[in-house]
Amino acid sequence: MLEINETRIVQEGSIFGQITSMDHEQLVICQDQATGLKALIAIHNTVLGPALGGTRLWNYANEQEAVRDVLRLSRGMSFKNALAGLNLGGGKAVIIGTPSLKNEAFLRRFGRFIESLGGRYVTAEDVNMKTSDMEYIAMETRYVTGLPKNKGGAGDPSPVTAYGVYMGMKAAAKKAYGSDSLAGKKIAVQGVGQVGKYLLQYLVKEEANLMITDIFEDKLQEVAKETGATVVDSHVIYDMEMDIYAPCALGATLNDQTIDRLKCSIIAGGANNQLEDEIKHGQLLLEKGIVYAPDFLINAGGVINVGAEFYGDYQEETVYAETEKIYDTCLSILNAAAQQQIPAQQAAIAAAKSRIESMGKVKLSY
Ligand code: NAD
Repeated sequence: MLEINETRIVQEGSIFGQITSMDHEQLVICQDQATGLKALIAIHNTVLGPALGGTRLWNYANEQEAVRDVLRLSRGMSFKNALAGLNLGGGKAVIIGTPSLKNEAFLRRFGRFIESLGGRYVTAEDVNMKTSDMEYIAMETRYVTGLPKNKGGAGDPSPVTAYGVYMGMKAAAKKAYGSDSLAGKKIAVQGVGQVGKYLLQYLVKEEANLMITDIFEDKLQEVAKETGATVVDSHVIYDMEMDIYAPCALGATLNDQTIDRLKCSIIAGGANNQLEDEIKHGQLLLEKGIVYAPDFLINAGGVINVGAEFYGDYQEETVYAETEKIYDTCLSILNAAAQQQIPAQQAAIAAAKSRIESMGKVKLSY
């Protein structure tokens, strides 16, 4: 494996510098003037199988931001898929622009780019991409999953993602408190979108003491009415007295500005890339004695769901049973991290890399 300090061939900030330092296999740049499509597809690692990860549509401020996002997200997918026990590698795509660009031709053109990779990359939905968009992509490629139920797909993966997050939260509670009961625990759920909303259903059943926040007031009031949760302003959520902080909105909410303010003993939520800087902020959480359930480990329910659909053997019961295993995996990683006195994020990445490496060796023989 090349190291980033091999400066003879890698210049800082260069495309090759970035993909070398994060150890990606491939970065594909796609453009089509007729439809206005500008997309990047990153394939991080295909040792375990085809690189599966969703497509994100986002109006990035500049190209560098889009490159950085697709590289970080695809690397995260390799670790997520590995820890979930899937025979799938890690990849991700980003489309640069706003949802107004989407139409049949735009999505089908993107589908043809995916098809041209011959199965090395398999797409699904992510931010600003819906199951209905996958239908157009599927007209041009077999390498797409996450289709609507009425098109033979498994539908929205969010309920399964929420179940996995719930399992991860319970494992973290077991580690922090010696019991996985969440009854009476003060839990703050940030973001009451798809994942947050389904997660709350489990937490209500456990009789947790719930706080919720979102930037959409209407949605917030509706969810508060359904769950009995207390509404908190989105700016003060980090300052609340709480046992568990559950980030279920955007990434990078664990950063220099927020970590000092947090008074919780556990962080467990569904958002991707919660640590703004995975090394520095993972270490800060360890120093503060907060039990952190790594995001890519506990939000894998969605990819377990779309992965089963891709392999054509989708059974809801099996998908939930596989997702339930997140509890055991999370607990064993939290225990390993505590034993070695290292951040949980680091322990989770080491476990993922170890599976990829050992399966790579298995594949050396016919
Ligand atoms: P969503 O768009 O349905 O919900 C996100 C919610 O967060 C929205 O209600 C939004 O208004 C709110 N929000 C945005 N900024 C906020 C802020 N600053 N403060 C408070 N609330 C804010 O998305 P989702 O599908 O629920 O996904 C949530 C997170 O989980 C994302 O980071 C996503 O990448 C990740 N994730 C989702 C799945 C899945 O199956 N849906 C799987 C894995 C990871």
